[in-house]
Amino acid sequence: MKNIMYVGTRNNDTEVTASQAILKGICDDGGLFIPKEIPKLDKPLEELMKLDYRDLAYEILKLYLSDFTEEELRYCINGAYDDKFDTPEIAPVIKKGDVSFIELFHGRTIAFKDMALSILPYLMKTAAKKNGVDKEIVILTATSGDTGKAALEGFAGVDGIRIIVFFPEDGVSPVQKLQMVTQVGANTCVAGIHGNFDDAQTAVKTIFTDDKLKNELADKGFIFSSANSINIGRLVPQVVYYFQAYLKMAQSGQIRLGDNINVTVPTGNFGNILAGYFASQMGLPVKTFICASNINNILTDFFTTGTYDKNRPFHITKSPSMDILVSSNLERLLCLSTSQEKTKELMEDLSKFGRYSLDLTGGIIKGYCATEKETCEAIKDMFVKNGYVMDTHTAVAYASYEKYKKESNDNTPTVIVSTASPYKFTKDVISSIDEKYEDMDFFPLMGELEKVSGLRIPDPVKGIELRPVVHKNVIDKTEIKDFVRKQLLG
Ligand SMILES: *Cc1c(COP(=O)(O)O)cnc(C)c1O
Repeated sequence: MKNIMYVGTRNNDTEVTASQAILKGICDDGGLFIPKEIPKLDKPLEELMKLDYRDLAYEILKLYLSDFTEEELRYCINGAYDDKFDTPEIAPVIKKGDVSFIELFHGRTIAFKDMALSILPYLMKTAAKKNGVDKEIVILTATSGDTGKAALEGFAGVDGIRIIVFFPEDGVSPVQKLQMVTQVGANTCVAGIHGNFDDAQTAVKTIFTDDKLKNELADKGFIFSSANSINIGRLVPQVVYYFQAYLKMAQSGQIRLGDNINVTVPTGNFGNILAGYFASQMGLPVKTFICASNINNILTDFFTTGTYDKNRPFHITKSPSMDILVSSNLERLLCLSTSQEKTKELMEDLSKFGRYSLDLTGGIIKGYCATEKETCEAIKDMFVKNGYVMDTHTAVAYASYEKYKKESNDNTPTVIVSTASPYKFTKDVISSIDEKYEDMDFFPLMGELEKVSGLRIPDPVKGIELRPVVHKNVIDKTEIKDFVRKQLLG
């Protein structure tokens, strides 16, 4: 099999193996790792259609993580995709109305981040062993709500690894917050910050490129890595479920093998949709990707005008995991579409002027967005017509797709990537269905949602409001670096 090496998005002088890229998380110059070339599928779709999720995962992962042995990969996959998921299909595909949904919320933290963060700890441990790493790995993670919990859940109790998570104190849902601050595990640390996700992400990225701090901590036996989607070990496992979506649609007769589909992805940091783009570059037949945003619609503007401009107000919305103005993974698309040299220039523009221009408007990715009102209406409409309850993020995607369809008259069979259980955003979901719930408290409403939807409250969040809060740190966004140093050096 072909050996795939990884290079940076701002510089292709150094090549590293997949396992080294996973360990490092981010390049020394702040760029992100990308495969030197995107591998092509080496099996026909007919053959992949016979596989279950784990075997499918193996067929995809082996192409990207080519320095892992089959035994190592199967060990990682089997450890990750087991009965931690509440369905053996891992990512079921359900047809409702005029679209299919691929539900990525059947893991332990009931959001799609589990798809990659269930396996990342295994990949990282294996990568550490392969590369003779003798230091303790410190995972630094900025979260808009869901990554933090999924990473905590994945890394808790893994020896040789510590994890520190930063979340916007006022920017996550009550369930999201409780999921994080009640996390047990001696190697876990969580802090709320006064600031938004972009502040946390920027601070964490700065630490990764701070040689002085890195050297100081290396002397004490620590190295940093990342569980954010800047880590290629997050991105690659996400490629798998795009194949799953397609193959399940073929199995149920909605499409024939070889037909095109459209894919709609509720987008924040651009990691999920980028994984879909990778799948299409490998040979998955996709006609159009609809990149769906809430009113933080910087990506919609980018894909319709060719200018990315973060000089704009930041909004806290009902889909907080998409409240992002700096979508890190877009850098990978820029590089794949141009060159390292050009990407470096664009990233310098972004940090100097808060904006850059590159015309990708004619490409396979189209940008659409939904207002808060349209999102709530989509939830209600889908529930009334099909009895199906979407979470707020999935609803942004659905509403965006409906706009796309109306504008384009494109009737290609479409899958909506469903990124969270409605229970994670209970109050906004049930209030969209019926206004009478607006004045009620969040947690009692979970019982109401169960009655209204007939969908059982998932075990991981049942009674979560009764669990003891163990992480009480709240710090300013400017204190993140000192906080990390204090946690590690005492
Ligand atoms: C993280 C997240 C998103 C955004 O995914 P990106 O990979 O950051 O684009 C969308 N919905 C939910 C529920 C999420 O947790």
